[in-house]
Amino acid sequence: MKTAIYPGTFDPITRGHLDIVKRAAQLFDRVIVAVSTNPQKDPLFSLEERKRLVEQTVQELPNVEVDVFYELLVSYAQRKKADVIIRGLRAVSDFEYEFQMALVNRKLAPDLVTVYLMPGEKYTYLNSTIVKEVARLGGQVDCFLPPPVVELLKQKLKSFGKGTDS
Ligand code: ADP
Repeated sequence: MKTAIYPGTFDPITRGHLDIVKRAAQLFDRVIVAVSTNPQKDPLFSLEERKRLVEQTVQELPNVEVDVFYELLVSYAQRKKADVIIRGLRAVSDFEYEFQMALVNRKLAPDLVTVYLMPGEKYTYLNSTIVKEVARLGGQVDCFLPPPVVELLKQKLKSFGKGTDS
């Protein structure tokens, strides 16, 4: 029984994240999508909203669970008895940071293996920040985001007086 944790800010979850979750769900018995608090990133969505959007997005994947975590990732992974950390690798630009993080995590927890998965090509340019920016400026984001996310993002931007259809 292999458990994998897919950690991230998910502010909000995109179709690129979902692509990685689906690949991980085929490889491992149990996948936990773990939403991090990450105050440094000053997220647009609250932790509860991010968790709920991930839950709505992965609800049809039976071996995928959603959780939030507040502590060091390796401590969380050990607490959950996970074998693997999943991260997505889009482009060379991701590599340096991910390489550093994987090596630090390996030093802290030698038994925990970090596995990198590449999304389908059509998602390699996608990140949450650019999608929020497109939406804020009135562009269509349906092709980048799972449906429940599109709705809440529209509402959120409207409540800030920056509706996507204005
Ligand atoms: P973090 O703040 O931990 O980087 P993110 O939510 O931005 O959290 O990303 C979580 C993980 O998902 C990271 O490994 C990131 O590289 C990966 N990821 C983000 N967007 C995509 C995408 N479009 N395709 C594949 N992986 C992605």
